Amino acid sequence: MPVSGLPPYDPSNIFARILRGEIPCRKVHEDEWALAFHDINPQAPVHVLVVPKGQYVSLADFSASASDAEIAGFWRAVGKVAKDLSLEVSGYRVLTNMGVHGHQEVPHFHVHIFGGRSLGRMLPAKD
Ligand code: AMP
Repeated sequence: MPVSGLPPYDPSNIFARILRGEIPCRKVHEDEWALAFHDINPQAPVHVLVVPKGQYVSLADFSASASDAEIAGFWRAVGKVAKDLSLEVSGYRVLTNMGVHGHQEVPHFHVHIFGGRSLGRMLPAKD
C-alpha cells in the first residue's frame, strides 16, 4: 500500500529492520553510507535495492536533509553496485518511488536498480 514520502520517519519500517540486522537480506554491497540487497519480488533479472544508512523517508527527505557526505556516499554506492553487477555495458535503470502517486511502499529512502534485459522506455501503460 502506498505511503506518504514525508517525515516523520518510522524506525519500525522493514528496511530499518534490515539495516539493524533484525531481518535477513541477500546483501550485494555494504559500506559506511549504504546497504544494497536483492529485491524480494524482482521485476527484472537483476533487481537490487540501495538504501542509505541514515534515516530518511524518501528522496524528498534525503535531498533536503542529508549531509553532502551522505548524498555523495550514497550515489557513489549506487554506481558501484551497478558496476559490480556487470550492468554497465548492457545498461540499467535506477528508479525511486516517492509518496502516494509514486507508489512508494517502504518509508525508508531507496533506489531500485533494474537490469539484465531490455527495460523498454520509461513508464508502463496507464492502468
Ligand atoms: P517501493 O517502496 O514502492 O519502492 O517498493 C519497495 C520494494 O521493496 C518492493 O519492490 C518490494 O518487493 C521490496 N521489498 C519489500 N520487503 C522486502 C524485503 N524484506 N527484502 C527485500 N525487498 C523487499
